[in-house]
Amino acid sequence: MTRCFIGLGSNLENPAGQLRSALDDIHALPRTTLENCSSFYTSAPIGPGEQPDYVNAVAQLETALAPNELLDALQAIEQRHGRERSVRWGARTLDLDILLFGSEIIDTTRLTVPHPRMAERNFVLEPLAELTPELQLPDGRDLATLLRQCPPNRLHKL
Ligand code: ATP
Ligand code: CA
Ligand code: CA
Repeated sequence: MTRCFIGLGSNLENPAGQLRSALDDIHALPRTTLENCSSFYTSAPIGPGEQPDYVNAVAQLETALAPNELLDALQAIEQRHGRERSVRWGARTLDLDILLFGSEIIDTTRLTVPHPRMAERNFVLEPLAELTPELQLPDGRDLATLLRQCPPNRLHKL
């Protein structure tokens, strides 16, 4: 089993409800247990144009799935939540990103882990720090340092 962290985000169609139902779906994944979830946060959108605020959280799993199997499963959950991929970083009903997969460093066409933009996103780092304040990334950087260096962006715990 590998400990991994998933970033959840939604800014359409009852975002907090989308996250709660996504957590139920993650809980039901094969060979996977949902160990913990952070508080929910509201955050200012980072994408293009006018968008509603996001609701974000981070979930902690233990899984026996391979990284690409986990990505398949998460993308299937996004699809069931009516995710449409049109504009990059556009508004969405559900986004599930693999932030960390154990201490693995993965760089394939489909999957880059650790998530390449997590260090600049306080809506990822803050909820992650709630779950594992002592966390070290596979490259040796520690979460506390990343948090101190992260650009401020509007973020409120719900
Ligand atoms: P960002 O990656 O900046 O958070 P996004 O979540 O809006 O943007 P998506 O449109 O959801 O991006 O995903 C685009 C592609 O990213 C996916 O099809 C997937 O193959 C790829 N991808 C690469 N690394 C990861 C990862 N760690 N977790 C999830 N998807 C990833
Ligand atoms: Ca994302
Ligand atoms: Ca994504």
